[in-house]
Amino acid sequence: MTSPELTGCAPLDHLALARGTVDRVTRRRTDKDWIDTAWKDPRTRVLVVHDGHALVHDQQELVFVAPQEAPAGTRFLLGEDTDGTVYFGVSAPLGPATGSIRATSLREVGALLSDRDAGLLTHAVALANWHDTHLRCPLDGTPTVPDAAGHSAVCPTDGSEHFPRTDPAVIMLVTDPQDRCLLARNAAWPGRRVSILAGFVDPGESAEQAVIREVAEETQIKVTNVRYVGSQPWPMPRSLMLGFRAEAPAGQAIAVDREEIAEAYWFSRDELLAAIKAREIALPPPVSIARQIIEQWYGGPLPSTWSDRR
Ligand SMILES: [Zn+2]
Repeated sequence: MTSPELTGCAPLDHLALARGTVDRVTRRRTDKDWIDTAWKDPRTRVLVVHDGHALVHDQQELVFVAPQEAPAGTRFLLGEDTDGTVYFGVSAPLGPATGSIRATSLREVGALLSDRDAGLLTHAVALANWHDTHLRCPLDGTPTVPDAAGHSAVCPTDGSEHFPRTDPAVIMLVTDPQDRCLLARNAAWPGRRVSILAGFVDPGESAEQAVIREVAEETQIKVTNVRYVGSQPWPMPRSLMLGFRAEAPAGQAIAVDREEIAEAYWFSRDELLAAIKAREIALPPPVSIARQIIEQWYGGPLPSTWSDRR
């Protein structure tokens, strides 16, 4: 097991939803001729997404269609691969699930897909979620028109331009002077599931301030030495999870609010492993940044639990 001094600040490098390999070719988003040519090319691949789901073959490979076979719906450019293949997303009802192909959510399959497919599905779900919930201009209520190959929307009445929304959230592993980790059970979660603390960044607040505030609000623990460890998109529906470590100086008692957090405890590495094996607790699935931060602190993989299949 690696010492905590060595693992504490190491960047996270196994984040399931931060693995894209396809060039987003942002300069092409306003190049109408290039977009039209790419859409007419039968080699172009289209990923249809609906309500956070896509068709997935054998739980590990995205199912694409040619542009001519794509259903009508909001279209967006996802990018271009090194071999020249262009990828689009379309937000529309999915085609039929047959044989080994079934509609699967990003949460279910994000850790099982290849780097390329994980990046494409994360990008497509994030854009589709935005288009599906931002249909009108916030200034005058006029239905907006997608622009920039689906990466913005314009109001035809006042010309205002609107961009995809991402909500920053912090998620943090807090340790005490014995290097025990603070895990909590959210009151809304089923069964034995526990995780590290998390919360949205408030307007006008830094991510580090949000870490300190959220930990104090949820457990009455005051933390110091807040350190960033990595991030991954979590478009369910539109978060960017910013991962942190923080330290709780000695002499503090946990006091949970009992509304958002039902209970919270300190776990040593041995206590955590024993509690998982005894099925007293269940950790979040590998697709989550929470799981990766916990395993970074632990010093290696932890046993999978029933929650992995949720
Ligand atoms: Zn408007």
